Amino acid sequence: QEVVNKISAGEVIQRPSNALKELLENCLDAKSTTITVTVKDGGMKFLQIQDNGTGIRLEDMGIVCERFTTSKLTKFEDLRSIQSFGFRGEALSSISHVSHLKILTKTADSSCAYRACYLNGKLTPASPNEQSSDPKPCAGVNGTQITVEDLFFNTPSRKNVLKNTIDEHSRIALLMKKYAINNPTVSFILKKQGDPTPEVHTSGGQNSLEKDVIGSLYGTDLSKELKIISIDPNSNISKDGNDIGNTTPSSTLSRLDFTMKGFFSSTNYNAKKINFILFINGRLVDSKNLKTGLEQVYGKYLPKGTHPFIFIRLLVPPKNIDVNIHPTKSEVKILHEEQIIEFIQQKVDQELSISSN
Ligand code: ADP
Ligand code: MG
Repeated sequence: QEVVNKISAGEVIQRPSNALKELLENCLDAKSTTITVTVKDGGMKFLQIQDNGTGIRLEDMGIVCERFTTSKLTKFEDLRSIQSFGFRGEALSSISHVSHLKILTKTADSSCAYRACYLNGKLTPASPNEQSSDPKPCAGVNGTQITVEDLFFNTPSRKNVLKNTIDEHSRIALLMKKYAINNPTVSFILKKQGDPTPEVHTSGGQNSLEKDVIGSLYGTDLSKELKIISIDPNSNISKDGNDIGNTTPSSTLSRLDFTMKGFFSSTNYNAKKINFILFINGRLVDSKNLKTGLEQVYGKYLPKGTHPFIFIRLLVPPKNIDVNIHPTKSEVKILHEEQIIEFIQQKVDQELSISSN
């Protein structure tokens, strides 16, 4: 059983940024408004996430790292449809199988914080001199701090392929930026251990918009001409099903069950590398087809060898997402994908052609 757990943990967590992605999602699920990440050696040596969310109750601390333990079974079903991506209560467990994991957490109604250490899904003493593995009271602020140390210490083969800590670090930085854009009201801070100046720092706050975050991370050259496109194929269909818009027949539209909000660079912006960020139902995913489909459209307008910035938030009914894809694969398949991509392509093409004239 232990071997099975370790193998499956290695499948879920392949590199530091995979671990961080899961930990960030947990902070967001806990309604945090500030998330501070500190790393050393690309997260291989040290990866720490401090949030100011709900915290974990003392009575739950013993089980949070057990496989398939989750407090989100029903609540998040429709809201974020985590299940349609195959993840459910596996993240902390997986991380605890391939690292030394510590949690320091405090709920608002508790008078003190508690700290605990985990290994292979279970509580473990903090050091050989400590007798008990029970959570210990300590000082701390409301929220949760998760510390992941020596990732892959017990899976040397995995560790060996991750020698390039600079590459791992840039994956972490990019991941932080993507989540920061998708959650503009949350402040995201990324620091290298020992370096007081944050590498990524978004302000968060109730009035912060995606466009502001994009500007602060990628420059106002990009954000000032950003094209914001919203698509709700069903919004121009009246209740009785009659088409009140004049673009596409309602019979086609009503089958395309999705809504989109997208932020697209103008034809005046061009980067050396494409920036393509896609969140479907709140989860960061890849879609090669959508990415190349949109690069094609931009290819008509941008100088050769230059690329756009694209941030898309897509909502589709969970039942329309292919659940047969392995949980670790971030590539997704959506029902009616071709038509949806074509629809988005047309809208973006329209916008770009207006501004390039
Ligand atoms: P899942 O997110 O699918 O529930 P995880 O393994 O990611 O599974 O987390 C297990 C449980 O630990 C969560 O359901 C939640 O109760 C608790 N938890 C993890 N991280 C946090 C956090 N940052 N703040 C509050 N609770 C957390
Ligand atoms: Mg989780």
